[in-house]
Amino acid sequence: MDCDKCGDTAVSHAAYSGLHLCEEHLCASVEKRVRRRVREDNLLGRDATPEDPETWVIGLSGGKDSVVLTHILHETFAKDPRVELVALSIHEGIEGYRDESLDACRELTADRDLRHEVVSYDEEFDVRMDEVVEDDPKNMSACAYCGVFRRDVLSRYAADIGADKLLTGHNLDDEAETALMNFLEGDVRQIAQQFDASLGPFDGASSERTRGETEAFVPRAKPLRDVPEKEVALYARFEGLPAHITECPHAEEAYRGEIQQLLYDLEERHPGTRHSIMAGYEELAALAATEHRSEDPALDECEQCGSPTTGDRCRKCSLLDALEAV
Ligand code: SF4
Repeated sequence: MDCDKCGDTAVSHAAYSGLHLCEEHLCASVEKRVRRRVREDNLLGRDATPEDPETWVIGLSGGKDSVVLTHILHETFAKDPRVELVALSIHEGIEGYRDESLDACRELTADRDLRHEVVSYDEEFDVRMDEVVEDDPKNMSACAYCGVFRRDVLSRYAADIGADKLLTGHNLDDEAETALMNFLEGDVRQIAQQFDASLGPFDGASSERTRGETEAFVPRAKPLRDVPEKEVALYARFEGLPAHITECPHAEEAYRGEIQQLLYDLEERHPGTRHSIMAGYEELAALAATEHRSEDPALDECEQCGSPTTGDRCRKCSLLDALEAV
């Protein structure tokens, strides 16, 4: 099949758009969607200047999504003095897995002369995920612990260096899965909070979102969320990016796996399902956020670590206490 743009050999067919694209036009199309999302979300505030640039922290795991996001943002903003990019990688303490992906992160950032920081659960919390899985005091999946620790490290680090935005490499499939899971769980407040935390657009004049965001959090954004996972993987391959593709040995989100399969089947039979889920979800989430914002409980400081929380202690400290008690 030929590329619909130039007639060269097509390497991908997107059933949702009907387009066949060659290597060059597929890569251009992925970059265009990321840049459009950056623009439409008003990611770069109008008051950012070369003298007072915005700092964006990118969560860089070394997997294809965060590697592609880092590469495209660097290509876009390397010569723009209004933005400073900082890549942040986290070592969870997973033997034989994270070391390899950190090599990919180091290669990517060194080639681009990008500031790269690495923090570990071991240094931060004195825990390693391999041991957490063994002890499992809360009878939860590894990812449930790991997600709490990762969010804490990312947020705290971003706040410590005075970052304006915290960017993560969630792709369209990730986001459609999360949207469907939130919806099926029937938790409207969670949907509202997700919109406020990472989906709503910024107001364009500053690094604030249009909503009344608490100062305790560095606002998050997901500029890769319009691009399907398969196209992210193809982009990484065609651009020769050093992405690490081995799966984490503790990955076991069973419910997400079911939703993944469901979405895959729906997309096969009804191309465009992921896009329509996200279009409707973001609109509904915006309405839910407006409705629920005034009811959100006031945030306090965790009595142990000072992180923002609605109770006496944050979730991370509760988990660390449980692990210590084993
Ligand atoms: Fe952590 Fe789960 Fe990701 Fe492994 S798959 S790094 S346990 S969140």
